[in-house]
Amino acid sequence: MSDTNIRVRFAPSPTGDLHIGGVRTALFNWLFASKGGKFILRIEDTDEARSTDASVQVILDAMKWLGLNWDEGPGNEPEKYAPYYQMKRKTAGIYQKYADELIAKGLAYPCYCTPEEVDQMRKDAQAQKLPPKYNGKCRNLTPEQRKQKEAEGRTAVIRFKMPSDGKIILNDLIRGSVEFDNATLDDFVIMKANGVPTYNFACVIDDYLMEMTHVLRGDDHISNTPRQIHLYNALGWQMPKFAHMAMILGPDGARLSKRHGHTSVLEYRNEGYLPEALLNYLALLGWSTEDSQQIFTIAQLKEKFSIDRCGTSPSTFDPAKLLWLNGEK
Ligand code: GLU
Repeated sequence: MSDTNIRVRFAPSPTGDLHIGGVRTALFNWLFASKGGKFILRIEDTDEARSTDASVQVILDAMKWLGLNWDEGPGNEPEKYAPYYQMKRKTAGIYQKYADELIAKGLAYPCYCTPEEVDQMRKDAQAQKLPPKYNGKCRNLTPEQRKQKEAEGRTAVIRFKMPSDGKIILNDLIRGSVEFDNATLDDFVIMKANGVPTYNFACVIDDYLMEMTHVLRGDDHISNTPRQIHLYNALGWQMPKFAHMAMILGPDGARLSKRHGHTSVLEYRNEGYLPEALLNYLALLGWSTEDSQQIFTIAQLKEKFSIDRCGTSPSTFDPAKLLWLNGEK
């Protein structure tokens, strides 16, 4: 594929601060698209309880400070370069259309079980040393039984029918071949009872409609990927290539998280760090050149970055090295 055909995205959920790990994902995608490809920003705000406007603003401010500009938006002036927002796309009916299509094909179904009932099913399965899954109770309800449930005042989520045997093989551009056993996956929810899509569903629909060629994201999402592959197959769509980046560890060896403190991108801006120093530092979290070069200009990063040289071992967040790259020895 030529570099100009590359289309990638950064798809943050605006549920808190933008941290080092999130912005590393943004940077790697931006670099990967920088030789004539397209980089898209998609705000995944479907978790209504946790998404906030303040968090969207933090993301936009951080991207702007770091110069991680994106190339496309919903298209209408003056919104040409606004990010995509999934809740706006939900209002336009984009996700419901494909949920209806899957139901019509017999590949998804309304499920009337309450969260408490589903919890109990999972506990029962676990007690029998089986994977803690939804048991498929509503899979084969007749239209009359559905009407009955609705008459009882129950509302339905939409679940995807997961094959209960076989395997999914992911050919990951960083991790190589990764196998997932379908028996460990359950009929997951694709639309909530209020008509809002879940992450896996909205992500697949948007990655397809936005013509993403590659999905480059943190390996904390790798367990979602087999679900997403099943959705691509069910919708008869070609999927993008996947690349899952190795995790970033905190100084204590645990996955880097906000509890490590001082990991929010805007803290670095507010403390007067140079954006170039942070970008240089972030680029080295999981990527390297053959000669282990440490100091890069942005132009050099754009020229040299490749997914082939993203490693599988975790990297450790080291504030002292960032300080050094910021010119404070
Ligand atoms: N909204 C997801 C997150 O913030 C994005 C996952 C993805 O890139 O597919 O973790």
